[in-house]
Amino acid sequence: MEIVHDPKDFQKRMMQFRAEGKAIGFVPTMGALHAGHIALAERARASCDILVVSIFVNPLQFAPSEDLDKYPRTLGEDARKAEAVGVDLIFSPSPRDMYPAGFGSTVSCGAITTRLEGAARPGHFDGVTTVVLKLFNIVLPNFAVFGQKDAQQALVIRRMVEDLNIPVELIIHPTVRESDGLAMSSRNVYLTKEEREEAPLINKGLRSAYKVFCDGNCSARKIRSHVEDIYAAASFLSTEYVAVTDTFCNDISGEISCEALLSVVCRTKISGTRLIDNILLV
Ligand code: AMP
Repeated sequence: MEIVHDPKDFQKRMMQFRAEGKAIGFVPTMGALHAGHIALAERARASCDILVVSIFVNPLQFAPSEDLDKYPRTLGEDARKAEAVGVDLIFSPSPRDMYPAGFGSTVSCGAITTRLEGAARPGHFDGVTTVVLKLFNIVLPNFAVFGQKDAQQALVIRRMVEDLNIPVELIIHPTVRESDGLAMSSRNVYLTKEEREEAPLINKGLRSAYKVFCDGNCSARKIRSHVEDIYAAASFLSTEYVAVTDTFCNDISGEISCEALLSVVCRTKISGTRLIDNILLV
């Protein structure tokens, strides 16, 4: 396995692989790899000749008040984990090489990016789609694997791929969880002991709401307040939002009659960590 930093060098190699007819699978990440990322890589490994993982903490998708500087960067350890799962190439560019002086383009995917995470983190999805399109153009993958953990991100990228006729197949992999249900995240390392102990409540709330839904209760308002009531009992978590939306991320106000997404964001009270999770109501 090799780690390549230079975008032009990397793109040249990928052009060569494509010319040879090799199938390229791609898993974009911000590094600090955990079992969730590794599951995505394993999924890709099974159906490609060349497996690429990118590791890039993308400054464009962080607001000035967010955790860009303290985001964990563990390239050596990441490389060891990637090699163990059969990754062929890690693409790990510098921010300066991705966004050289004079960089001025933005990919923006419209209304879907203004709701949920887009409302809570203005400009976040423009940063995501801009970097993902750049990465697609450098890596030239046949397919790319994203996680259901970032459900809206997956929907936004699908929007971009459809809107812009991007010839990359998208695969969405289920959320990988700790044994107590907490969704794995590179940000979980920020949690204090008390926060970590309470954090599984986030997923418990979602599963309990799913049961209420499966029992025939289809009122979006009732599902939301069911989750909010469970989270209200927490000592170390405050609820940022609980939302029931359709797959365009539009709020559902009445009965749930289509495929719906129950999304939640909680912020921990000591370390201020933002934890996101979701479940499909189908
Ligand atoms: P990140 O490094 O957090 O930007 O995530 C890179 C990719 O891994 C994204 O497609 C995420 O949705 C996915 N991912 C992150 N955490 C998980 C998880 N616990 N289970 C499945 N996929 C995940």
